Amino acid sequence: MKVAGLTDVGRKRQGNEDCFWADEASGLLVLADGMGGHAAGEVASDLAVRTVAVLMGAPMEDSGDPDAVSERMAQAIAAANRRIVQAAAADSTLKGMGTTIVVAVCGPERVHLAHVGDSRAYLLHDGALRLLTRDHSLVAEMVTAGEITEQEAQNHPLRSVLSRSLGQPSDAKPDLAVVDWEPGDRLLLCSDGLTNMVDDEMLEAILRFHGNDLAAACQQLVAAANAGGGLDNITAIVVAPEAG
Ligand code: CA
Repeated sequence: MKVAGLTDVGRKRQGNEDCFWADEASGLLVLADGMGGHAAGEVASDLAVRTVAVLMGAPMEDSGDPDAVSERMAQAIAAANRRIVQAAAADSTLKGMGTTIVVAVCGPERVHLAHVGDSRAYLLHDGALRLLTRDHSLVAEMVTAGEITEQEAQNHPLRSVLSRSLGQPSDAKPDLAVVDWEPGDRLLLCSDGLTNMVDDEMLEAILRFHGNDLAAACQQLVAAANAGGGLDNITAIVVAPEAG
């Protein structure tokens, strides 16, 4: 596989509370979007990414048992949650901090995903982009319940309110998924600073346009979010199953 990633402060924020880790050798990708007063959001996302990166650790062997990988991801995310809760309890300036997380373990034939919050994973397959994750947000739940439409969710004043995040003492349980992929496909992990500024059709067009140049795709995604207003921090990781 090969991977490129880029994070950008955007055009309105002072600091960047997004954080990511992408390791071509192990196929491990981690992206977190922190929240909290002062610099607490940066602390939360950094703690989450580092904890999961360390615990998922060495190159993963795909033993053919998808459950084993998913289980390890869930444990690593639970450990990250505990560390954030403990850090917030130990330092009053960090009180209330939290973060989203999306984790991918990429093998030659399949991708294991785990996520909490509204950072997303998409797969471009046969030229079509498909959302692989469901946001853990109030507006996403309202859409599911039929209370508002997808369209209304786009600009809803409560759209950044999460229904699940890391930093809550109750276990932040991730959604787990396994998807097949093949050469030519592209996996995109991103924070809401991208998806709130750029619609899915444009994400698809950018990924298709840049083909094998994953770094250029990341730069274009960030540029599009900034052109759309850049109201939040922006992070994108683009992955291809074929070797560089
Ligand atoms: Ca964000």
